Amino acid sequence: MNDSWLIKPSFDDVYPVAAYGEGVFIYDEHGNKYLDGSSGAVTASIGHAVPEIVEAVTEQARKISFVYRSQFTSQPAEKLAEKLNDLAFEADDPYYSFFVNSGSEANETALKIAVQYWQEQGMYRKHKIISRWTSYHGITMGALSMSGHTERRKRFAPMLEDYPGISPPYCYRRPAQESCSDYEMKCADELDAAIRRTGAEQVAAFIAEPIIGAAGGVIVPSAEYYKRIKEICDHHQVLFIADEVMTGIGRTGKMFAMEHYGVKPDILTLGKGMSAGYAPIAAALIHDRILEPIRKGSKAIIGGHTYSANPQSSAVALAVLTFIEKHQLVDRSAKNGEYLVNQLRNMALTTPIVGDVRGKGLLIGIEFVSHLFTKTPFPKQLNLTRLLVEKARDKGLLIYPASAGIEGGDGDAIIVSPPLTINKQEMDTLVKLLQDSIHEVQRDLMLKGYM
Ligand code: PMP
Repeated sequence: MNDSWLIKPSFDDVYPVAAYGEGVFIYDEHGNKYLDGSSGAVTASIGHAVPEIVEAVTEQARKISFVYRSQFTSQPAEKLAEKLNDLAFEADDPYYSFFVNSGSEANETALKIAVQYWQEQGMYRKHKIISRWTSYHGITMGALSMSGHTERRKRFAPMLEDYPGISPPYCYRRPAQESCSDYEMKCADELDAAIRRTGAEQVAAFIAEPIIGAAGGVIVPSAEYYKRIKEICDHHQVLFIADEVMTGIGRTGKMFAMEHYGVKPDILTLGKGMSAGYAPIAAALIHDRILEPIRKGSKAIIGGHTYSANPQSSAVALAVLTFIEKHQLVDRSAKNGEYLVNQLRNMALTTPIVGDVRGKGLLIGIEFVSHLFTKTPFPKQLNLTRLLVEKARDKGLLIYPASAGIEGGDGDAIIVSPPLTINKQEMDTLVKLLQDSIHEVQRDLMLKGYM
């Protein structure tokens, strides 16, 4: 006899039933309260049940929720695209928006636009995408082909495109004798080598998360790294796609993470925080110069979905962006992030299993090791990340499981990424609950002889 017809992420796990949310908290059906320390999957950036957004949802639903993109455009979709262009870099860098429904679709779209861009100019062989071996760009086949996450890839590996991968600029685990900046340059130069090996005439684009999220436990490269990457791309006529699905819309203390680096991508993808979880919507922002040959050639982008640019999701995303601007949440993300990362670094001093605390704004990663000096990860079968996430949840704190940056997705890490609206008292509660969770898990590890 089934007690549920819903297929959940794991058949073995039991999930609390969410009843409602309020600000940074979620309540389950039994009234248990959870501090949303990860905004779900780094998504609910403005917190839950925000009245202005509820109002925008109903106001648009009263007008019209759906029109088909080849029959109508709509005011909310037009305004949203205009707003995103206003927010993206300088006025003389026009970015046009193509709306889809998920981060995977946004990256899938970016891939196809990159290929189409070269085709329109007669370069039909440029079809390969290079990415980093520590990355996650989505679960659909094209996006998964570009992702370096072994666990998610391995079952489908024979069906994936054979795209080249390069090393992430993962300074925490660089060779002991090398400086971080030298190591980063070496990692960047791997792109040059990969393009030469593949043949530039076959490479359409390089895709990267500006700050590596779930696959690397938040890896923050330097501006020099991205300057070098962009130089290499330009030299070989390879487009640069910034996957800002996780980092975009204020999460890292700037509207877009690439602003930290002073490098403008040819295509930029968004998802998650774009509607802060209030509606499924994502986007590929495409620089005018990339659209130009497509405008002159095929005159259409070959892609799109039934729900692309639907007025309901567009109105919600527009209301979220307005809310973020009105409450200056991008600045708040930067300030809150500084406070939270310091508190978490202080917390790290109380335990020998936190190897590294790193991040930008309110995107913070914590990597766990069994030995601080050797940086040895805990055994894979222990599944420490899962133990930590479950312990924290039992205490009423939600955190996001990640992998450390070890190639292929090994190692233990968590992401701390609360709504940008979080206040100081709530951040202190978050740190206390996390510290208690880590200490309890650490005690269990000692009792079991792991340390
Ligand atoms: N890119 C990045 C950087 C992501 O973090 C994710 C989701 N974790 C995706 C793409 C895929 O987004 P979605 O799950 O909405 O398809």
